[in-house]
Order: sequence, then structure tokens, then C-alpha cells
Amino acid sequence: MPDQTHSPNASILATLRSAEAQRINFHLGPWHIDGAAFERIARAIEVGDIKIRVEPLPQDVEARYDDFNDYVVVPPAFFAGTVGDRAAIIHECVHAIVDLQNSKGQFESSNEAAAFLASFLFRLNSGEAIPPATGGNANVRLVTTAEGIARNLQKQPGAAVPTRDLSDLRWSIATHPHYRTKGVTYISPNSSDGLFRLKMRRKSENTDPNRRGQTDLNYTKNLPPGSRLA
Ligand SMILES: [Zn+2]
Repeated sequence: MPDQTHSPNASILATLRSAEAQRINFHLGPWHIDGAAFERIARAIEVGDIKIRVEPLPQDVEARYDDFNDYVVVPPAFFAGTVGDRAAIIHECVHAIVDLQNSKGQFESSNEAAAFLASFLFRLNSGEAIPPATGGNANVRLVTTAEGIARNLQKQPGAAVPTRDLSDLRWSIATHPHYRTKGVTYISPNSSDGLFRLKMRRKSENTDPNRRGQTDLNYTKNLPPGSRLA
């Protein structure tokens, strides 16, 4: 019998509902990243509006969120055993929060900024020291910038990320080789498109109740498959 306590689903739900995640509370642009938002994602996973997929990922990618298919993708043998693993899940689930809310006119770099800040707040809330940044200047700049802003946010629950801090963080993301090679720039548009099954249910309420909750990936979405977000 599979060990359900160590299934990716169970690990991810436990991470979203952990005290460290539930204490995260900040605003960035149109998004309020807080315990209630993480709980919405946990419920979306429980009812299947967001799916967990296990598949091999490139070595430099811990996990990813797929806006188009509404998947959190984790690598095989993912057990969320370390604070770093759980912080990566928080990062991806911020992308899920952004996808669910589906606010138009946003930037990819802002979505990434929100995800980095939440994962750093998760690490700070866990009480474990944040490991020193390695891997070159761009990485050091990104980690140092995100950590500094997260430390300020931790002292002011519910605060909005100041405009200048957000700008600094978005630049350090846009100039980081990992994101630059994926085409992320300071102003590249965000690719969130809503959760398919929620749109499906809304659309089907007045027309065909039998289709409620069914997944038809071509029904409302027009974006190309796949996501550049990691
Ligand atoms: Zn990301």
C-alpha cells in the first residue's frame, strides 16, 4: 500500500496549511498573499481544480506551476522533506493563487516577485537560517534583494510591498539568467489565465450541467500550452 502520508499531494496540502505558510501575509499589486489564499489553493487541489503531477524536471528547477493546465509539477521522489522543498512548493502555489485570481494586465516579473517573497517569508517563519546565496552575482542579487524585502514584510503583516522594493526585485528577476533565458523581461506580460475547471463550472451553470467539473482544455483557453514559469 502506498504511503499516503508521503504522497506529493499530502505533503503539499500539509505545507499550505502549515503555521509557517498561514503566517505569510502581504499585498503585491492586486494580489493578497496570505493564509486564506493558500487555503483556497489547498481546496482547489482537494477538489481537483489544481492537479499535482509528478514528472522529471531539469536539474535547476525544483518544481513548477503550469498556468495553462493548472498543474503543480514536482519531480519523482518529492517528499517535501526540507524547508527548502516546502518553500519551493509555496513559491509555485503563489503562481497558482495568481492564476486563480486571473487579474489582467500584470507582469510575469511581478508574479515571480510575489512567489519569491512568499517562499522567503516561509523560510523566515520556519526559523531556519536562509542559506547564503551561491551561483554568481545574479543569483546573489536576487536572493539578497528578496530576503531583505521579506524581512521587512515579516515585521508588518498585511503590508504592501513598497513600489521601489518591487521594482528592485523585478529587475533582479528579469536580469537573472534562469528567467532571462525563458524570455522573462521587466515588462513581459503575465501568462495566468484562470483555473479551467472554475471557468467551466461557471460557464456550464446556465447551459449544460452535465459538463460541470469536466476538463476540456480547449474549451475556454486560447494560450499556447506550457508555461515559462518555474
Ligand atoms: Zn516562479
